[in-house]
Amino acid sequence: MKIYKRLRYQLPLLTLLFIIFSLLSGYIISLNISRARQIRIGERNMSERLNVLQGISEILINENHPENINNIFSSYASEKDMINLIAADPEGIVFASTSFSDIGETINQLPYQLDKNAVSEAIQNNSTVILMEEKGRYLQGYSSLCKSSHRGQVIKKECGFIYYKTDLNYHYQMIKKDFLLQLFLTGAGMLAGSILLLFAVNFLIAKRTETIIEGISKFIQGDRKQKIFLKGDDELSDLSKSVNSLFADISTGEYLLKENEERLSSIINTILDGIIVINKKGIIISFNPAAENLFGYRSEEVTGKNVKILMPEPYSSSHDDYLNHYLETGEKKVIGIGREVTGLRKDGSTFPMDLAISEMHLWDDVYFTGIVRDITERKLLSEKLEKSNQDLLRSNQKLKEIAITDGLTGLYNRRYFDIRLSEEIKRLARSENSLSLILCDIDFFKLYNDSYGHLKGDECLKSVAEVIKSKFKRGGEICARYGGEEFAVILPGVDSSLLENLSRELRNAVLDRNTPHGNSKASPYVTLSIGGASITRVMTDKANFSNENLIAMADEMLYRAKEMGRNTFIIHPG
Ligand code: GH3
Ligand code: MG
Ligand code: MG
Repeated sequence: MKIYKRLRYQLPLLTLLFIIFSLLSGYIISLNISRARQIRIGERNMSERLNVLQGISEILINENHPENINNIFSSYASEKDMINLIAADPEGIVFASTSFSDIGETINQLPYQLDKNAVSEAIQNNSTVILMEEKGRYLQGYSSLCKSSHRGQVIKKECGFIYYKTDLNYHYQMIKKDFLLQLFLTGAGMLAGSILLLFAVNFLIAKRTETIIEGISKFIQGDRKQKIFLKGDDELSDLSKSVNSLFADISTGEYLLKENEERLSSIINTILDGIIVINKKGIIISFNPAAENLFGYRSEEVTGKNVKILMPEPYSSSHDDYLNHYLETGEKKVIGIGREVTGLRKDGSTFPMDLAISEMHLWDDVYFTGIVRDITERKLLSEKLEKSNQDLLRSNQKLKEIAITDGLTGLYNRRYFDIRLSEEIKRLARSENSLSLILCDIDFFKLYNDSYGHLKGDECLKSVAEVIKSKFKRGGEICARYGGEEFAVILPGVDSSLLENLSRELRNAVLDRNTPHGNSKASPYVTLSIGGASITRVMTDKANFSNENLIAMADEMLYRAKEMGRNTFIIHPG
């Protein structure tokens, strides 16, 4: 129940109950106290009266005027609490009474229930005895009444008694009436005070509290323009001002929060990357539109489900264990590290994606945010790029080969020969080895062309090149087409005697091919003339020893071989 309703309804009820309870308990307690007091006063009064009556009566008896006692008793008869006042002589005959008809009667025949013990006690002790009757309703008093007679020195007493009975209840009822009146007046006063208090509480507190509470309720229900106006400068009006400024703060805070939320959600909704938020159990909490596009699910379809539905096997089955392992050990495998993984769409197809996971702590809970991006196109592009890189490398390689290769024979070309020869000469300068060079030339090749045609001539060139290639396959040996129908072979580590053998073998090998050359004057077959030169480091020590020097030495030997009749070899003597 609202406080102002309590103030309005419960407070009056409680006040009323409080008043009734207070009055009743006050009434009961007061009555009890009064009754006890009444008894005490009654006893004292009776004792005092009996003493007076006894004294006066005994005087009157001793002076032989007992009839006057009755007059005294009559004056007591008008007392409102009086029931009986009787005086009896020693024989028990009533000689004075508030009830006139009793006089002359024997006390035992009258309907008064006197306590005989109290009578004899009062007479024997010459005293006053007071008894209570019917739970304090009546007081009975007994007092001796003696006549003294003198016989010489001896005083003889003959005693009757006085019986006195009053109604205590009469006084008690009087008091009770007074109390009831007092009670009524007090109650009425309290009630009037309470009503005034309630009016004050209602107008000063309840109504104003209601205004504040209603204002707060309306604000809570969404009325952001709500303001509470309370007059005065008391605490409640201060409270209403504080509440108003709180309303203003809340409204501003809400506006800023909403603006922030809208900005954030528009970023999340328009961002091209998929954003998926999961809790520590792997349950999807949030799934943005880009993620919907990527996976083919609508946000409502996946929210509340385990994120493993977005992964193909075996990642799907091991994801729960992975997550638990991370939460227990904190061992990071993916968190904070971008990596390439495979995503599973609703239609069952898979796609490569970049995944970056970050951990987020909100209050006491852990959440993980995954940012995903489809990299299918990027992958295709990089595969294409890789392929064209390979092609380019191959083409480069080819180009390189082409650049150093003779197109017809497949041997190295003259340019490459020159480079390699110069390198070998330089290397020789740093070693104890020899370096040999063969220059060779097909004999009467012009005639061959003339006889068999240029195409056949090309084939012959290829055939001789093959023979040369097959003979010199060791690492470092370079076979090149030197020009036209001339060939050259660089032979690192080959001295003049080995060169001689190799030259012979080459000459024989070409001849052994038995390529017919009908117009040759040297042989019926295609033949080769060979000039060889071999050098050592000592020779290269000479200033400016270069390619030309070694080529010139071999060329001279070739010339001599031609001179010698061709189909032969000559080695420079060194
Ligand atoms: P020798 O025995 O003195 O060397 O006489 P030869 O005829 O071989 O020498 P010459 O220098 O007079 O002739 C060389 C010929 O080689 C001339 C040219 O037609 C031919 N020749 C040069 N390059 C090629 C080629 O690439 N293909 C063909 N078919 N012939 C070529
Ligand atoms: Mg030639
Ligand atoms: Mg020739």
